[in-house]
Amino acid sequence: MREYAYLNEYVSLQLDSGKCTGCGLCQQVCPHAVLRVEDGKARIDARERCMECGACAKNCAFDALKVEAGVGCASAIIYGWLTGKEASCDCSGGC
Ligand code: SF4
Ligand code: SF4
Repeated sequence: MREYAYLNEYVSLQLDSGKCTGCGLCQQVCPHAVLRVEDGKARIDARERCMECGACAKNCAFDALKVEAGVGCASAIIYGWLTGKEASCDCSGGC
């Protein structure tokens, strides 16, 4: 898969380490290897790769992750996959 990078300051992903149990599900479902579990806790390893798809937050049973899913680059990429068209969300980040 192509390597994606987004602007760190605009990525809405938030992790509450206090709620994290280290179950590892977020690491398994993340398509861009943004999250890594080490020493019993998840940590954000590469925020700039987060496409805000929402899979991690949706699968975290402990409400430790928050992300504004279904906006911007993620929506553009999914739309591109579904329609076969070039993905663009007009962010100039190169979806
Ligand atoms: S899914 Fe939630 S509880 Fe499990 S490792 Fe990830 S953040 Fe922690
Ligand atoms: S929102 Fe998607 S890309 Fe971002 S960390 Fe979660 S699973 Fe990974």
